[in-house]
Amino acid sequence: MELHTIEQAAAAFIAQTPLNAAAEIKLTQIYDQPLVGVASAADPMFAMLKADTIVGEQHKLPDDWLPAAQSVVAYFLPFSQAVREANRQGGQPAVEWLYARIEGEIVSNALRKFLVEWFEQAGYQAVAPGLDSRFTVVNRKSNWSERHVAYVAGLGTFSLNRSFITRAGAAGRLGSVVVSAAIAPTPRSYQSYDEYCSQCGACIRRCPPQAIDETGKNNELCARYLDSTAERYKPRYGCGKCQTGVPCEASAPVVTDH
Ligand code: SF4
Ligand code: SF4
Repeated sequence: MELHTIEQAAAAFIAQTPLNAAAEIKLTQIYDQPLVGVASAADPMFAMLKADTIVGEQHKLPDDWLPAAQSVVAYFLPFSQAVREANRQGGQPAVEWLYARIEGEIVSNALRKFLVEWFEQAGYQAVAPGLDSRFTVVNRKSNWSERHVAYVAGLGTFSLNRSFITRAGAAGRLGSVVVSAAIAPTPRSYQSYDEYCSQCGACIRRCPPQAIDETGKNNELCARYLDSTAERYKPRYGCGKCQTGVPCEASAPVVTDH
């Protein structure tokens, strides 16, 4: 199985699915074309994620999800220009961002399901942890962190504000599927966990509750702010000011090919 075959299938799904729009707010496109990266299921970095200082002991290995696991396919769905531009103003989250955050996750779940079925039709086994009944989130910590998986799969690095920066930026959503197909892993073109972040500090000034400083993000303050948006915008919520109107919105500020 070749990476470009998977990329083509994922891109065709996103281009064709009617879910990738929100007609009620005249948003014709939630996501641009996905980036796809692959990790070997045997990559020792998956076991490292169990450290308390990284994700935690609850984080499952690829073969916990699928005993025949050979590879992990991770993707990044970049938000469209319309979504990103709308959220560049300060203050309240843009309605386009709120839809992209919630309806956008429905699109991402549809892509997870599509990829599982696509691999199965090709004769392989596949599991999307994010859709699996064993997937848990306890105290805001999951047993399958899409950001950490994307890091292992060569898609990008973390950042000052604990977002994930890809070559298509930070504004978007991540997902993954564990498969029994052997696929060549995507090289990680970075050596440190936050290499794509320039530490410019622009996100510090963008954060409404001042949850970000030079040392990183206060998760509790951010979560409390997100909860407050849920009260105002039910059934939606979101913020994303630290991912829009900043240098890492739609590209990686620092890329050094090692
Ligand atoms: S705005 Fe600057 S400091 Fe903040 S995450 Fe992006 S690149 Fe890093
Ligand atoms: S999502 Fe909003 S509240 Fe949370 S860190 Fe980013 S800007 Fe701050």
